[in-house]
Amino acid sequence: MRLTKSFLPTLKEVPADAQIASHRLMLRAGLIRQTASGIYAWLPAGLRVLRNIERIVREEQNAIGAQEVLMPTLQSADLWRQSGRYDAYGPEMLRINDRHGRDMLYGPTNEEMITEIFGQTVKSYRELPQSLYHIQWKFRDERRPRFGVMRGREFLMKDAYSFDADYDGAVVSYRKMMLAYLRTFQRLGVRAIPMRADTGPIGGELSHEFLILAPTGESTVYFDAALEQQDWLAQSVDLDDPESLGRFFKDVTTSYAATDEMHDETAWKTVPADRQREGRGIEVGHIFYFGDKYTRSMGVSVNGPDGAAFHPHMGSYGIGVSRLTGAIIEAHHDAQGIIWPESVAPFKAAILNLKPGDAMVDEICNRFNHIGGDAVLLDDRDERAGVKFNDADLMGHPWQIIVGPRGAKEGRVELKNRRSGERLDLSVDEAIEKVLS
Ligand code: ATP
Ligand code: MG
Repeated sequence: MRLTKSFLPTLKEVPADAQIASHRLMLRAGLIRQTASGIYAWLPAGLRVLRNIERIVREEQNAIGAQEVLMPTLQSADLWRQSGRYDAYGPEMLRINDRHGRDMLYGPTNEEMITEIFGQTVKSYRELPQSLYHIQWKFRDERRPRFGVMRGREFLMKDAYSFDADYDGAVVSYRKMMLAYLRTFQRLGVRAIPMRADTGPIGGELSHEFLILAPTGESTVYFDAALEQQDWLAQSVDLDDPESLGRFFKDVTTSYAATDEMHDETAWKTVPADRQREGRGIEVGHIFYFGDKYTRSMGVSVNGPDGAAFHPHMGSYGIGVSRLTGAIIEAHHDAQGIIWPESVAPFKAAILNLKPGDAMVDEICNRFNHIGGDAVLLDDRDERAGVKFNDADLMGHPWQIIVGPRGAKEGRVELKNRRSGERLDLSVDEAIEKVLS
């Protein structure tokens, strides 16, 4: 893709009102533009990242057997009156009237809607369990939207909902989700630590928040370093075997990890001092079990084996997809700009044409561009080399293929790895092999 034909507006100046690195970098690298307080438009590079995150989230949800649906953003207030949450939800809910004066709202979450859809369809215990998810925009009228997409008012969330016949079934669904979450975050290139979270009136241990470590995080976190070392993608867990899932869950939850809300000094003291990690974290996901709270209040039941109706047990599972864009940058940047993990990068590589108009340089650049297709960005602007280097560093492409007249004459290019800073002098074919294969 040619930069001269793209909409990739980078900014040299640092936006004055952006307080944290990810917000500044998202504006400067041309990923987003604010359109109203806490509301953002996604520009091409930002949208590519958002779609990459969605794709990984989706693949891992599908891998545990969750099925994708798409529910609307607008909901009827009556639905929320059934669960009692219409009045209970505070000013964070954006309430709207349609032309007939009917009360509507822009969904801050979808428990009520999915419960209703489930209830209209599933009538027998034989159709359980079910896990349904969607990736849809939410609106919460946050008192203090800030840090760009990290705490927006309109934001993209993956929310999944599980329905089981009983508590034991719900535990299995919960554990599968925990595994899917750990794998998702690892594939996104971040370490999200699962931390015990408040279960409210339900009690028990089935509520976890997933936090990425970053100095700008809003929560204080305490955890056992053992949790940082795990490779969740390499672990073989048999999803069809509750005992295998049980061992996995025990493995995760025996290591201490809590936010300040749930911190327990006595338990913390049992963690060996050299493994105690304390810092700040960004919440990127939250999973919890809440029993029959919604199925009961909304009168949704299914028939059991003995013919008696019962209220299915539910869990809900959120991932902050748009927040993750910012959180990944918080975890991966330096003074020059973003350093994208390959899995979510908007472009795999940038080709820096240091001398547009030079026949040999142009030819090599065009060849890379042709082979790389949509995955590479060719900086063919008539700009100084320094400008191109700076923009490539700012945008954070994992690789830079630097093509100048001297090397081109000998059919050689320089390949720079954005993360390590390592530079290799390679033949064109070697560079293609290394980056694009
Ligand atoms: P927080 O404590 O950060 O306000 P929450 O507990 O209200 O989050 P949940 O209801 O658990 O959030 O939503 C699931 C996920 O959606 C969160 O883990 C977070 O990643 C994301 N999220 C929640 N609120 C926002 C927001 N205002 N902007 C961006 N993402 C959000
Ligand atoms: Mg939460």
